[in-house]
Amino acid sequence: MSQTGKINVAVENIFPLIKKFLYSDHEIFLRELISNATDATLKLKHLTQIGDAKVEYGNPLIEVKVDQKGKKIHIIDQGIGMTSEEVGKYINEVAFSGAEEFLEQYKDSAKDSGIIGHFGLGFYSAFMVAKKVEIITKSYKDEPAAHWSCDGSPEYTLEPHDKTERGTEIILHIDKDSKEFLETSRVRSLLEKYNKFMPIPIKMGTKEITHTEGEGEEAQETKEVVDDIINNPQPAWIKKPSDLKDEDYKSFYRELYPMQFEEPLFNIHLNVDYPFNLTGILYFPKISQDLNVQKDRIQLYQNQVFVTDNVEGIVPEFLTLLRGVIDSPDIPLNVSRSYLQADGAVKKISNYITRKVADKLNSLFKKDREAFEHKWNDIKVVIEYGMLSEDKFFEKAQAFNLFPTTDGDFLTFEELKEKTKDLQTDKDDKLVQLYASDIEAQHAYIETAKAKGYQVLLLDSPIVGHLIQKLETTHEGVSFTRVDADHIDKLISKEDTTPAKLSEEEQTKLKELVESHVDKAAYTVQLEPMASDAPPLMITQPEFMRRMKEMQQTGGGGMFGGGFPEMYNLVVNVNHELIGQILSTKTQKKQERLIKQSLDLARLAQNLLKGEALTNFINRSYELIK
Ligand code: ADP
Repeated sequence: MSQTGKINVAVENIFPLIKKFLYSDHEIFLRELISNATDATLKLKHLTQIGDAKVEYGNPLIEVKVDQKGKKIHIIDQGIGMTSEEVGKYINEVAFSGAEEFLEQYKDSAKDSGIIGHFGLGFYSAFMVAKKVEIITKSYKDEPAAHWSCDGSPEYTLEPHDKTERGTEIILHIDKDSKEFLETSRVRSLLEKYNKFMPIPIKMGTKEITHTEGEGEEAQETKEVVDDIINNPQPAWIKKPSDLKDEDYKSFYRELYPMQFEEPLFNIHLNVDYPFNLTGILYFPKISQDLNVQKDRIQLYQNQVFVTDNVEGIVPEFLTLLRGVIDSPDIPLNVSRSYLQADGAVKKISNYITRKVADKLNSLFKKDREAFEHKWNDIKVVIEYGMLSEDKFFEKAQAFNLFPTTDGDFLTFEELKEKTKDLQTDKDDKLVQLYASDIEAQHAYIETAKAKGYQVLLLDSPIVGHLIQKLETTHEGVSFTRVDADHIDKLISKEDTTPAKLSEEEQTKLKELVESHVDKAAYTVQLEPMASDAPPLMITQPEFMRRMKEMQQTGGGGMFGGGFPEMYNLVVNVNHELIGQILSTKTQKKQERLIKQSLDLARLAQNLLKGEALTNFINRSYELIK
């Protein structure tokens, strides 16, 4: 019996509304329809398993066909199907009122891009791209098939159909302004984006595979026509970690990022079902210095359906540097980001992921410290970033956060404190940790510090300065000082064992002499009795000044507003032979040349000699050696 009817419209003109502004990305209609087809198939599977459906489940597929000539897309499943009565109920009432409610709720907010949810509109999203939609469906129950048709006005027709195979076929008559969806390549790429890991195989036509048997002249080629399946219905993250080998994780990584040739360093398999549901695999890639290009690689799924690759607000910021997949039905999707960030469930998920990552790093460190140290340079940025931004992570990371030394050792914070506690305390009994940020540029300073038996760290990641600051506030008895900073006086005053070879009087004279050759506003001259093999002159910059400057560069503000004054210490080693020589040189011209030359060498060591001063230095040097 044929029937026509009018869908019960409460919202005036719902169809233009659907079409117009629900989503900027109309493309999600396909995901919605494939999701329905998947649900219908999984429902049948369930019913056959519990014995409620007495039919053969078989190996069902979902087929997508593009009919360019007829301007149609067909989506065919072999799921439970619907009886005529069910179409009336589910499509005309349930689905419609669902869509209507969804629209009511989101028609305003949907316009702002803050919405990340795309779920909820369901079947009626077909009208975003189609001017007419047909459903031909045959229930698994012994009842005739039904044919529903609606051309975008609230009127529909529902009549019997002679379809005999079980399942549902949705036919979309694509509208003029959505022609792009009639291109096979476009449809295929949509399926690859949204449905790549859905649990039912999705077929898009067939393809020919050539097999070659035998070799050379004997070779026989056979051609086989097989289904062209788009998706992997069994992605690694839904499997048990115990069933997966290292290679399986790696090949899944390649599946996720086909254009990525570098292998991931390690992975973390997430799996929790209480108090929320979440599965997934996170990968640690090698992280380069440029942090921005790394982001937005984690993909969020809901029951194997792709939702977004922008997981901001769901995953703590520092973990957005990782890659991989998170799948959770518990992440609310039809909401704005600000709401998401305040959502309790999302907070719990975020804390869980942070904890898992910390635990994994800790166990890697404990299990094979050497391998962990080997990877340190590639993972340090994530760890440092995490320590800076998440206090819980900061606490946990104390156990595995490493401090590389310029000699290639790696120390935990505790080990570092233990190792330096005898030699590197200042007069207030504070531990002074020396570090270099550039092993080449600071070579001379590193060597000088090492000669004194000091431990020099190599901290060269872009954000380590901020981490140092944080460590200093959380561990009161420790301070960090760069090797070329003013630590020399700090540390020396404690173990002041070397007596000065010059008398008080000579020192006053020396100080005046040196000061007359430098810009007093920029340089503070400081005499120190050091070992005779320490450099005669050394330029250092107060740690505090340099840090303020660095913070300002990385956008941290600072008390000097605009530019900082350049301020340095000029440390003169009164015990060095050359210094004594300078002081005792009788001819003023020769003395001047020696001072200038020595000062320039000190500047050169700190990379401060540039422009005209550099040219003068080079010319003077030639004079000296000729
Ligand atoms: P939802 O899937 O969220 O329930 P939809 O509007 O997408 O909402 O679909 C409404 C209902 O129509 C579904 O719950 C289901 O009962 C029925 N339906 C939709 N597509 C199919 C299909 N391919 N096979 C069987 N039933 C379907």
